[in-house]
Amino acid sequence: MRTIDEHVQMMWENDHLPWCKEMGHDPGTFEDFAEQLRPQITEEDLKLVGVCRVCGCTDNNACVVLGDPCYWVNDEHDLCSACKNTEASNK
Ligand SMILES: [Zn+2]
Ligand SMILES: [Zn+2]
Repeated sequence: MRTIDEHVQMMWENDHLPWCKEMGHDPGTFEDFAEQLRPQITEEDLKLVGVCRVCGCTDNNACVVLGDPCYWVNDEHDLCSACKNTEASNK
């Protein structure tokens, strides 16, 4: 499971633009973003919202390979189908 800090960092890097649009405003700096996001993060988010550790795709922002969105290949939801080959060849 990720820490809240890691989760905020990943949301900032991977997901902050769609999130901002949804919230209807620009959060400005990372500090502002973290302050706004932190209270909304639950333990369930840390467990369930997947972010690929290789490419950074998320449940809401899957990468598309050959026309199909990727899916999680492990229970931790931190490795997606698009990256499993990359990961394997790195070992
Ligand atoms: Zn990936
Ligand atoms: Zn992916």
